Amino acid sequence: MVQLHAFFFPFLAQGHLIPLLEMAKLFTSRGVKSTIISTPFFAEPIKEKLTQESGIDIGLKIIKFPHPESGLPDHVVSVELVNTDELFSQFGKAIAMMQEPFEELVHGFKPDFIVSDMFFPWTVDSAAKFDIPRLIFHGTSCLALCVGEQMQRHKPFKNVSSDSESFFVPDLPHRLEFLRTQICVADLEEHESDFGRLLKQVRESDRRSYGVLVNSFYELEPAYSDHYRTVLGRRSWNIGPLFLCDSGNNEGRGHRGKKSAVDADKWKSWLDSREPDSVVYACFGSMTSFTHAQLHEIGIGLEASGQDFVWVLRKCENKEDEIEDWRPEGFEERMKDKGLIIRGWAPQLMILNHPAIGVFVTHCGWNSTLEGICAGVPMVTWPLFAEQFFNEKLVTDVLKTGVSVGNKIWRKAGSEGVASAAVSTAVRQVMVGEEAEEIRCRAKEWKEMARKTVGEEAGIFPADRIQQQKSEKTADMYFPADRIHQQKSEKAADSYLHL
Ligand code: UDP
Repeated sequence: MVQLHAFFFPFLAQGHLIPLLEMAKLFTSRGVKSTIISTPFFAEPIKEKLTQESGIDIGLKIIKFPHPESGLPDHVVSVELVNTDELFSQFGKAIAMMQEPFEELVHGFKPDFIVSDMFFPWTVDSAAKFDIPRLIFHGTSCLALCVGEQMQRHKPFKNVSSDSESFFVPDLPHRLEFLRTQICVADLEEHESDFGRLLKQVRESDRRSYGVLVNSFYELEPAYSDHYRTVLGRRSWNIGPLFLCDSGNNEGRGHRGKKSAVDADKWKSWLDSREPDSVVYACFGSMTSFTHAQLHEIGIGLEASGQDFVWVLRKCENKEDEIEDWRPEGFEERMKDKGLIIRGWAPQLMILNHPAIGVFVTHCGWNSTLEGICAGVPMVTWPLFAEQFFNEKLVTDVLKTGVSVGNKIWRKAGSEGVASAAVSTAVRQVMVGEEAEEIRCRAKEWKEMARKTVGEEAGIFPADRIQQQKSEKTADMYFPADRIHQQKSEKAADSYLHL
């Protein structure tokens, strides 16, 4: 059988890179030759991840970024550093300028298909130029994909007269309620912003793609997987949870491509000395930022909850010595036995899977949400931006394995507005009492389910997994690469895009 060659093109952000690397490894384990396309800044973490284990042979090709003519300052090499509208606009230009060198690589290496992050919408044109399939990766849940699409179709936020009036999104399997302040402004606005334009291109490229790869598993959100396929008409595959399919060693998987800011000895012995299910783990992903006032409230709220906690504070890349004037007076002294603060990158996956962790306070980025679900940990949901408010609903309304802290405002940077009392109340609600016990039981059931999904042996994507999915409402019982392979051998003059 001729070996297929795939290009994997992750977006320039940790949360997008991590699952796409895991996906490349999954495809490689299924017999596909894989090549990652990335930029100089991400080359090192990618190489580190790829060399963690022997026997995995994945190529890496580098495209210069940023292109000098984009106007983007040289140090802005990842979306995490984009914090103004001007930088966003330059970043967008720099991303668009990757098209030409990307197509040179496609021309030179002639891959059989492309797996592209959603934020490179032009890769759908590149794929069409070379008449090869393009699979799109959004890096989110099926639920979020469905809510996003129905939100655009129906624009229910137009029917409310104030920010405090809630609305439901029509035509979904559940009644999911939102405020318009929880929706990305670019999605609400009539006039077009740079980000609004990009989202529009993403949606168009999505519709023109060969298929959609989703880092989720069917059993987790069957109603939304089916809805996405049958109502919204997408050819999609649930091939997650990808990190459970990753055969890397625990250390490597746990770090998710970045060096941990805390010694394993320190956090492990700290957690080892705690009772099972007794510690709060609070971490808000790789991109969020809070005002000092909000950090202050989180600190007081964690203290008032009376629970032990591990709290990850993101370090601003350019502000090594940032003055920590957010701290409540005497906070660290009082909390020296109750709280472990990690400044910088935490080994999240490993911490979440420690038996002492009893609740995850999360921003509902999809990777974190899925990691929390697979660790069987109840959640306090604190969405901030992107599609995080949609993912929150999966946890609070559908799975019922968490409670919301009640954030009402979509904001990428400088988030604030949640009082300390809301933090302590939500934490106690999922940690203490009868309701908490029920939530914990449900959360643990999902952990079992996730593990069953990928087989007992994490690291081996079971050959028969896709066959099992026959029960799902899909015509596609083939692993995506196998399907492309089959079509390639049957292909006459027709284009893949029309198959
Ligand atoms: N992560 C981590 N340590 C940290 C912060 C984040 O390992 O200190 C990992 C986390 O486990 C997840 C990813 O980074 O895999 C963040 O992705 P997510 O989609 O949750 O959020 P984003 O950062 O994209 O907003």
